[in-house]
Amino acid sequence: MSAQHGEVTPGRAHEPERPERSESPEPLEQPGILHLDMDAFFASVEVRDAPELAGLPVVVGGDGRRGVVAAASYPARERGIRSAMPMATARRLAPDLVIVPPRIGVYREISAQVMGILGDVVADVEQISVDEAFLDVRPARRLFGPPERIGALLRERIRSELGLPSSVGGSVSRAVAKIASARAKPDGMLIVPAARTAEFLAPLPVSVISGVGPRAVQGLERLGVRTIGQLRELPPAALSRVLGPQAPHVARLADGTDRTGLGRRVRDRSLGTERTWDEDLVDPVDIRRRITVMADEVARQLRAGGFVARTVTLKLRGPDGTTLTRSSTLAQPTSSGERLREHVVALWERERAGMPRVRLAGVRASHLEPAGTAGRQAELVGRTTGWTDLEAAMDRARDRFGSGSLSRGSTLPGAAPAPTPPPPGPDESPNALEFP
Ligand SMILES: [Mg+2]
Repeated sequence: MSAQHGEVTPGRAHEPERPERSESPEPLEQPGILHLDMDAFFASVEVRDAPELAGLPVVVGGDGRRGVVAAASYPARERGIRSAMPMATARRLAPDLVIVPPRIGVYREISAQVMGILGDVVADVEQISVDEAFLDVRPARRLFGPPERIGALLRERIRSELGLPSSVGGSVSRAVAKIASARAKPDGMLIVPAARTAEFLAPLPVSVISGVGPRAVQGLERLGVRTIGQLRELPPAALSRVLGPQAPHVARLADGTDRTGLGRRVRDRSLGTERTWDEDLVDPVDIRRRITVMADEVARQLRAGGFVARTVTLKLRGPDGTTLTRSSTLAQPTSSGERLREHVVALWERERAGMPRVRLAGVRASHLEPAGTAGRQAELVGRTTGWTDLEAAMDRARDRFGSGSLSRGSTLPGAAPAPTPPPPGPDESPNALEFP
């Protein structure tokens, strides 16, 4: 996978190709939108929970006479089986088809876990279905690095914590990020540098653009247009005749100038961190220290993203899986580590008797607001005067010394991108996918 996104990331791969400009060089525009999509979600969950099904054509759906395929594993897709296909057709295509009845409750729970991981790393998550979301990664860059690093981190966490494959596309445009994640599947990542957006899209069929339906595809075909590159060459009037009011947006998309970001359905913003330990923590001093470190880390994420939080939540899990979640609402929203620490320690003091052994702990800040003037004034009149300023100064120092001095938790990969398991398909492995 590193080879794959090494081909397309803007930093090293693209910089040497930039036209030389001696005066006022344009800052290199980094892709700010990621689209993360689980691969064959329901089917992957079923294969995860029944490993003997790996490599088999597995579909999730009803097997009655009118049953329909809800999800198909990649081996099933290789036989031509698709979602929404009648089960009878799928059975004809693969006589050895394995049909698993859906477990909606399980999928819903895993979906929430996926979104929780996304929310841990990125404050702005727009969930668009049970298994996909758009993320605005611009505020997270200061803490986690460039978009391909954030995408690798998310994929690796979903893989290691949930045992499931996912794919990520990245772009300056929401629509292009979604197209890129589809091209990266299965189990891959494709980040399209801003300056190469049009080039990336040019060879793709016009049908990959959401909003260009079968009728528009036919209309364009009559004009001799099959690819997005050909669409670019159409005079605007001709494009409008085929696409109607959609035409200007599609034209911007095709020439790489679309910058549409997240929609309005941004879920309640939250961010946080979580750790699981191989051995139970039993020493109260140790537990207390670890949750204060997490509170500091969350506060740093808040400041890096320019947020203050109104609610802080402590999550603890014991060795038997019992999970306890307690929240505290702050009188004033804050990004101060000192304030968050006070609250999580108080929550822990209250609950520690009932949770003497800790296997997992997490701290999460939610009900985030931009750290605007109101929050700042509240901070200054509050009893933690000075803390946020001091902590912001520490953040700046940390930035100046580079990310190496930033203490990294177990959830962050090292400098190298996260490893990817062996490719699933015989012919087109994710590693083989390269930006043209
Ligand atoms: Mg999906």
